[in-house]
Amino acid sequence: MKILANDGIDAGGKKALEALGFTVITEKVAQDQLANAINSENIIGLLVRSATTARKDLIDACPNLKFIGRGGVGIDNIDAEYARSKGVAVFNTPASSSQSVAELVMSLMFAASRGIYDAGTHMPSKGGEEFEALKKKYAKGIELRGKTIGIVGFGRIGRSLASYALGCGMKVIAFDMFPSDAPVTLHIEGHGAVEVKVPMVDMDTILSQSDFISLHVPKQANGAAVLGEQELAKCKKGVILINTSRGGVIDESALMNSINAGHVGAAALDVFVGEPKPNVQLLSQKGILSTPHIGASTNEAQERIGLEIAERVKEIMKL
Ligand code: NAD
Repeated sequence: MKILANDGIDAGGKKALEALGFTVITEKVAQDQLANAINSENIIGLLVRSATTARKDLIDACPNLKFIGRGGVGIDNIDAEYARSKGVAVFNTPASSSQSVAELVMSLMFAASRGIYDAGTHMPSKGGEEFEALKKKYAKGIELRGKTIGIVGFGRIGRSLASYALGCGMKVIAFDMFPSDAPVTLHIEGHGAVEVKVPMVDMDTILSQSDFISLHVPKQANGAAVLGEQELAKCKKGVILINTSRGGVIDESALMNSINAGHVGAAALDVFVGEPKPNVQLLSQKGILSTPHIGASTNEAQERIGLEIAERVKEIMKL
């Protein structure tokens, strides 16, 4: 029984799959060679992260495929309904990476609020001679404590982020299409758990009151932006936006226009329209700090994802 983990898999997950009797192939196969490789190697399971796609044509071309697993949350790179209609099981690992994404958001908020990323890129070239000038340039940082964060999409990651933000002394408000008044749990090492009710508000309240807005919604069914030109115009002047959910959830052109007009203060983006070839103009835009879709890329999250994959494969294959 062979599995192709085409975007890699953590060593612990690979070991767990091998213990179930699978051979796990991790050599990357180019997208256009995938069907050939799956058929010629008698592969019954395909595992992907974000890079590899499993569309209708691949599913049709590989009749012996029994499952497609996504190490991560969204399954927008898999034609999941179609696969299921052909008897191919599709699964993801929704809970494993929430904490890592929430920690990335916190690091992006800290970086954006102190100009860390920008300063860090100037220090090697200018820090020796222009130290005092750089010190002055980055002297207008802000603290997170006491600021309001509006979380849009209050599911697993949004809630995990709320616990970190509350721990930092931020005021947290949230908006979700399906609001829930379930409290957020803060685990304080050595002191047990504290439950906090986060106020669920409407989108206009998020836009008008937040100093930071972080998006944690899936790619919208109609592909539309959740923060477009109109929503950005309603934001507080100087707001810092963070998108670690999916490219296009913030309208990229509207974002650049708003930053250039001096309205949105800064943005931190981990996800982009057209990945893996994002708009280079966006990447070089002043006021935008970017990371290459690394929300779930921690050793801890990848280990949990690998083990969750092995558990799901065990269930699906009834082993
Ligand atoms: P989740 O399903 O637990 O939560 C999403 C929430 O968004 C739901 O409560 C849903 O009701 C809400 N929602 C959907 N559309 C909305 C809208 N238009 N307005 C308000 N609320 C809306 O999902 P999650 O696990 O928290 O993941 C959230 C996003 O993070 C997903 O898009 C996922 O793909 C992305 N993600 C990114 C990375 C990364 O590496 N950057 C890693 C993991 C997940």
